[in-house]
Amino acid sequence: MLRQLRSGMQALTAGLRAHCASASAAAATVGGSGLVRSQAYIGGRWVDASGSALFPVQDPASGRQLVEVADCGPREAKEAVRAADCSLPSWRAATSKERSNLLRKWYDLIIKNKDELARLITAENGKPLQEAFSEILYAASFVEWFSEEARRVYGDVVPASSPNRRILILKQPIGVVSIITPWNFPSAMLTRKAGAALAVGCTVVVKPAEDTPLSALALAELADQAGIPAGVFNVIPSSRSNTPAVGEVLCTDPLVAAISFTGSTATGKILLRHACDTVKKASMELGGLAPFIVFDSADLDLAVAGALASKFRNSGQTCVCANRFLVQEGIHDAFVEKMVKAMQRDLRVGSGFDDQTTQGPLINERAVQKVENQISDAVSRGACIVTGGKRHSFGATFFEPTLLSNVTTDMLCAQEETFGPLAPVLKFQTEEEAITIANAANVGLAGYFYSRDYAQIWRVAEQLEVGIVGVNEGLLSTPEAPFGGVKQSGLGREGSKYGVDEYLEIKYVCFGSL
Ligand code: NAP
Repeated sequence: MLRQLRSGMQALTAGLRAHCASASAAAATVGGSGLVRSQAYIGGRWVDASGSALFPVQDPASGRQLVEVADCGPREAKEAVRAADCSLPSWRAATSKERSNLLRKWYDLIIKNKDELARLITAENGKPLQEAFSEILYAASFVEWFSEEARRVYGDVVPASSPNRRILILKQPIGVVSIITPWNFPSAMLTRKAGAALAVGCTVVVKPAEDTPLSALALAELADQAGIPAGVFNVIPSSRSNTPAVGEVLCTDPLVAAISFTGSTATGKILLRHACDTVKKASMELGGLAPFIVFDSADLDLAVAGALASKFRNSGQTCVCANRFLVQEGIHDAFVEKMVKAMQRDLRVGSGFDDQTTQGPLINERAVQKVENQISDAVSRGACIVTGGKRHSFGATFFEPTLLSNVTTDMLCAQEETFGPLAPVLKFQTEEEAITIANAANVGLAGYFYSRDYAQIWRVAEQLEVGIVGVNEGLLSTPEAPFGGVKQSGLGREGSKYGVDEYLEIKYVCFGSL
């Protein structure tokens, strides 16, 4: 196994080196840091999958194999759940200060290793290094936040209606939590869930996405170094072919009390169906279709800057990316002109390891095809390509930042999440029309609008059917604020003081006959 690990690390180093000269220095650091792990982490031990099964982790920029990782199946999933269950009594019994201190150590180690962790993200996800670095700080911020929240899980003493009774409300950890995370924020989506669950005394089993297991395994290595006890935090990577069986165990095993998932709405529904037989608590962060509305009253330059930030971060692959630009007719042409100029001036496609790059590759060929399909559907129905529109010459998974005008609500790009660098612009006339279009979706995660009319700001903020609203702001995520959606965008909230609620049970204790 040691030989396998060593050769995996060499391959990762070689894969990274191929990016560019600066990447080779990065690769050497990552390869030598001990954060590249290829086994599963179960019960505090690094273990192979049964039959030493492996799957490749690829560089999305080139398709080259970076490293091979243990391909866990249902057997490892059950083992991990058992390990989490065995460690639950002692972790639950630890004081909140003890848990808080361990989370703080984990946070400190993440910050100490931020450069290597960022390089790992760029290697397996492709996002530009600067964005990967921001993700690590964002990921760490949840561990820090929940290390603080750990000590504030207060219950209540409620005035009783009978004089001889007292009512006490306790908050207690729910138990073992299964966590399934996506590839687009391989570190932050993990810590936003695990930070909260561990803080309140739950133990967890994490299944990262097939495309990006290295970040989760590196976080497990650091959790181990921080002294988080064996079995409290487990990570089981799996290939896409093993994922459904692993997911089924994680969502049906009677030892699991709650599931926490971030990913597509379609997968979320499968997991909810699995979880219903054993009535598990479910926290779901699912897909979106964010409207980005620019009213005539908007500050145009501010709106363009916000549009660029909201649409093109992570090459358009975030669940809160603006998906539909609704622009009022009076400002429409000026907005399109300025937006195209800003895109051509500020966005640069290339390797994530190049300092100048703002747009890395899409995660895989399927993702590129989805963008192509939406563009050809829109064009066939009358949309115009104002800039971009095709794969970028840098490589097969790279796509030109694209703006479509003349978009209408019947087009695919206005109806389904793009998850790519495509900005479709629809023209509207009245505020009511914009709200109607924005709310005509069965999902509702984020929504943005730009206006300087304060009465309109109140009206629109209240009427948008989403969980997160950006008013004259294109970047919203922060650990202090609740993150989550309405309709089919999910259940529950992550981050903020509400994030711990997903992992707590409320117990009413009645003191009678006093
Ligand atoms: P996905 O296909 O649903 O995958 C997400 C995770 O679920 C991956 O770990 C995947 O594993 C796993 N998975 C897939 N099928 C499964 C099954 N049958 N049983 C158990 N696990 C299963 O989503 P994605 O395409 O990777 O991610 C993009 C989606 O996530 C978008 O819709 C985006 O909006 C959403 N998202 C939402 C948020 C939020 O906070 N609301 C944040 C980020 C992303 P494999 O990789 O092995 O298939």
